[in-house]
Amino acid sequence: MDKEALKKYFLSLDRAYFLDESQHKEAAFDHPLPIGFGQTISQPTLVLKMTELLDLEKSHKVLEIGTGSGYQTAILAQFVKEVYTVERIEELYHKAKKRLDGLGFKNIHFKIGDGTYGWEEKAPFDRIMVTAAAVRLPKALASQLAPGGKMVIPVGEEGLQRLFLVEKDKEGYLHVEALEWVRFVSLVGEDGF
Ligand code: SAH
Repeated sequence: MDKEALKKYFLSLDRAYFLDESQHKEAAFDHPLPIGFGQTISQPTLVLKMTELLDLEKSHKVLEIGTGSGYQTAILAQFVKEVYTVERIEELYHKAKKRLDGLGFKNIHFKIGDGTYGWEEKAPFDRIMVTAAAVRLPKALASQLAPGGKMVIPVGEEGLQRLFLVEKDKEGYLHVEALEWVRFVSLVGEDGF
């Protein structure tokens, strides 16, 4: 992918737009911030890093689990063909949809539900981005990844995880690389916490 274009868009995107009024003063700092309902948005540099790891192409169909504020969704949608994003908290879904519609995106498809099941009807996906911490790799997500596909997902215990880069080869075998330590809110669901 074009890393320079990604960096440019990342720097042009105002994080405050995705945050409640009470957090606006903090928006420019590189740290996680609350988005309500006990959930948080990651520090911007981690969002950038995770996006770089996915190595996006304009032709890609991407699944995102944990829409949250919609900040990461915008960064994905800017660089791929279609984004399918799933959020379990209805209020967060409504807010994120309003913000992303407001930016004029036409390639984002929203769903309220348990993202540990993925989005079966729209599978397979070239890329999968999970922005909540899983106890293990959810089976549905692994199976909905296309051959040659990549997934970024934090896996570990509550409060401390490793960022995993999962790649599915052409034969359908998974290769998993454990990267840096991270701290995400839990992926709550049938195949989560
Ligand atoms: N990427 C988001 C950060 C989201 S925080 C952003 O840029 O703002 C993690 C989100 O995952 C929360 O909104 C939480 O409600 C959601 N989540 C947790 N478990 C989920 C599940 N099983 N399915 C869908 N969303 C889930």
